[in-house]
Amino acid sequence: MAGNFVDVATIWLHAGKGGDGAVSFHREKFVAAGGPDGGDGGRGADIMFQADDNLSTLMDFRYKRKYTAENGQNGGGKNCTGRKADPMIIRVPRGTVVKDAETGQIIADISGDEPVVIAKGGRGGWGNLHFATPTRQIPKFAKPGMPGESLHVTLELKVIADVGLIGFPNVGKSTLISAISAAKPKIANYHFTTLSPVLGVVAVGPEASFVAADIPGLIEGASEGVGLGHDFLRHVERCRLLLHVVDVSASECRDPKEDFEKINHELKNFSAQLSQRPQIVLGNKCDIATPEQIQEFREYIEGQGLTFLPISAATRQGLDELPGLVYQRLKDLPPVQVFEPTYVKPQPEQNSRAFKVEKLEDHVFSVDAPWLERILAGSDVEDYESLQYFQIQLSESGILDKLVEMGVEEEDTIIIGEYQFDYVF
Ligand code: GDP
Ligand code: MG
Repeated sequence: MAGNFVDVATIWLHAGKGGDGAVSFHREKFVAAGGPDGGDGGRGADIMFQADDNLSTLMDFRYKRKYTAENGQNGGGKNCTGRKADPMIIRVPRGTVVKDAETGQIIADISGDEPVVIAKGGRGGWGNLHFATPTRQIPKFAKPGMPGESLHVTLELKVIADVGLIGFPNVGKSTLISAISAAKPKIANYHFTTLSPVLGVVAVGPEASFVAADIPGLIEGASEGVGLGHDFLRHVERCRLLLHVVDVSASECRDPKEDFEKINHELKNFSAQLSQRPQIVLGNKCDIATPEQIQEFREYIEGQGLTFLPISAATRQGLDELPGLVYQRLKDLPPVQVFEPTYVKPQPEQNSRAFKVEKLEDHVFSVDAPWLERILAGSDVEDYESLQYFQIQLSESGILDKLVEMGVEEEDTIIIGEYQFDYVF
């Protein structure tokens, strides 16, 4: 099939790394080395997603799959903080749902107007200015920037519309939406799927309106038994009401009742929720159908307690009353669904007490252990019990042994994240 519609894509996101902190010393004429003045690194760029109504497919993501945001600038001398990197903004069609590619958990539903941060840039490292103390006036070290978040995500387009048109190819869905709205989809009397969802605003009198979606149809050859392929149903998942269009004239020699059942079967296969979605059944092509054909199908549909409306998208028969009928029905239905995030950030260090000890210079050690930083952040260092708990953690995790092994001495400085301690064990 020429020009496949792209409504799913998998891409990699790498947010920017934070800039490194600088090691620098203030210099003046006739003064060999003044105090430390190394600035902090800037924050790495976030990767944000923003809805763009000019886009209707995820086509771009088929060609570009890796997105790497800018790193933060390194800190400089004279206490210059590195520049924070500008966020990378990725534009997607409104209604794109971003999921974690491995777990399928929803990270965000890009259906609002505000950009959403999906991958966070890394923190900048501290420059040596931060590490000066009365006893250590010339720190010759700084901290590197933190890496940005890396994510492997799946994008799925689920358009935002009140009403979704469903039905076999060629039954007249595109003709209908172009007749009741300003939308201009491709109309063709051969089996060729609509290439991207077409949204149309349907006016109901001077004040009210609703949005209808003509979505990519069933796969080509569906009626020949190739299989209906229900991928397209992703697009009607949010719709509050479905307009089920059926060719009541059987112009392609299929039985309208069978068509109707097959589509409903697909809905059920796709999701139980979707098969419960309210439907209005539109018997299209009434201009070339016999009164008997229309009557027989009407009885069949109304026999199931559903609303039936005979129309002709070509001659506009029934189209004047359609918007009002739809609008009345929408009034009683819940608003368009927004998908809530279900994503849980993986925290590999949560249950392990992994750490890294580094000797930054003589008598200065740094301990990298995010879990320990969290304990510190939540405890009062002036409080004896908190401090004791903290010391137990240091000892039980093996950090103390490691420090001793690396030659720590009494009064040495231990840096843990944003905290500094003297070694007084
Ligand atoms: P879709 O595949 O469901 O979007 O169908 P289209 O809107 O592309 O229409 C398929 C063919 O049916 C086109 O040749 C249309 O001109 C024709 N068609 C659509 N609606 C009517 C109708 O009410 N009466 C008649 N006679 N032909 C129609
Ligand atoms: Mg069409």
